[in-house]
Amino acid sequence: MKCPRCSTADLKPTMIEEYLPAMSCGTCEGSLVSLLYYRHWAETQKAAAEAPKEPSLVETSDSSGALMCPKCSRFMMKYKVSGRLSNRVDVCTSCDEAWLDRGEWELLEALQLSHKMPAIFTDEWQRRIRNELTEQTRRAILARTIGEENVPKVEDFRSWLTESGHKTDILVYLYK
Ligand SMILES: [Zn+2]
Ligand SMILES: [Zn+2]
Repeated sequence: MKCPRCSTADLKPTMIEEYLPAMSCGTCEGSLVSLLYYRHWAETQKAAAEAPKEPSLVETSDSSGALMCPKCSRFMMKYKVSGRLSNRVDVCTSCDEAWLDRGEWELLEALQLSHKMPAIFTDEWQRRIRNELTEQTRRAILARTIGEENVPKVEDFRSWLTESGHKTDILVYLYK
C-alpha cells in the first residue's frame, strides 16, 4: 500500500500508541489509522489526564491538497480539528480509515482529542468549528475598527448585557 502523500513510498505497519496499530510512511511520517481499531483502542485505553503539550507548539505538516485513499483510491474527506488551527484530518468513510500527517497525532493529544476522533468527523463538530471561526473573524474586524485594547470592554459589556435580562431594552436605549 502506497503513501497517499508521497505516492511512491510504501506504508509500513507500526504502532502509534501502545495497542494502536497504524500503517506509517517513513518519508513523510504520516500514518493511516484504521478507525475500527481506533474506536476499540479509545474505548479500552484511558486518556491522559493532562495534555502533554501546548497545541500551538506541536510541529505538524498538514497536507493541503486532496488525498486519495491508499486502499480504495477514492478521495478522502477533510475534517478540521479546531477553529484555531489549520490542520485537517483526512478520512475515507468507505474504508473507515483516517490519515494523520506528521505530528497530527501529537496535536490531537495536545488538544486532548486523541480519544475523541470520531466526534471530529460529525456535522455538529464541524459546525461548531465554523462558528468559532466566524466569531474570530468578527472579533478581528472589531479590533481593527475600535482598537485591540477596547475589545475586552465590549466583550465584558456583552456578557453583562446577556446576563442583565434586559438586553433588548438596553440596546434600544443605546441605538437612540
Ligand atoms: Zn509519505
Ligand atoms: Zn478508502
